[in-house]
Amino acid sequence: MKIVMLGAPGAGKGTQAKMIAERYGIPHVSTGDIFRANIKNGTDLGREAKAYMDKGELVPDELTVRILLDRVAQDDCKNGYVLDGFPRTIPQAETLKKELDRLGESIDFAIDVDVPDENIVKRMGGRRACVTCGATYHIEHVPPKKEGICDVCGGELILRDDDKPETVQNRLNVYHTQTQPLIDFYTAEGVLKTVDGTQDMKDVFNAIVSILG
Ligand code: ADP
Ligand code: AMP
Repeated sequence: MKIVMLGAPGAGKGTQAKMIAERYGIPHVSTGDIFRANIKNGTDLGREAKAYMDKGELVPDELTVRILLDRVAQDDCKNGYVLDGFPRTIPQAETLKKELDRLGESIDFAIDVDVPDENIVKRMGGRRACVTCGATYHIEHVPPKKEGICDVCGGELILRDDDKPETVQNRLNVYHTQTQPLIDFYTAEGVLKTVDGTQDMKDVFNAIVSILG
């Protein structure tokens, strides 16, 4: 099963993708997580990506596509995967389609987690991420057991630089101009499904499970 998660930054793609990955036993592939791991490890890729991420802009397609195709070519992706944060532009979606066509494969579901912009700004301000393992929390909706400390690994929880309000607005603008057109792209492919992302996260997940079966 190959799944693409669509939706604005902060819509809950990562939250749902992790639950899907666990339920269906397929890897959760997040280009944002790959870039953040590279930033943490001080790689050249991390340095290049950081310059764009800090401004709320997209990392160039060529670089992002290369990273993603390398990742999905790995053994654990043989039986499928859930993509979170990729594709984010039409050229990325087209390149992925071309590569899958070549392998005689295709995306089975593109799930759009629909959340209006007003809710997004609140969500991102409350998101906290573990600097060590990347686990995600929300100060109101998914608080850690101990404030500022990751339940999973004991790491420090921080507000991501790109979740600061001045960057969030730019990320939303980028989403509307560059990523939202993917809704039409996947509608034309016949695989688009929309879920109401303003519901409680368990209800969003139930809606997704009833689509995936
Ligand atoms: P994305 O991967 O789309 O950027 P996340 O999954 O990281 O979004 O979610 C953004 C923030 O909103 C996180 O702090 C997360 O805990 C919280 N969140 C996710 N889904 C919901 C929901 N259905 N209701 C309330 N808060 C949510
Ligand atoms: P995310 O964790 O998905 O919110 O991504 C964080 C940031 O990483 C984005 O704001 C972009 O700067 C960059 N990024 C992640 N995925 C992509 C992608 N598919 N294309 C371009 N940039 C990306």
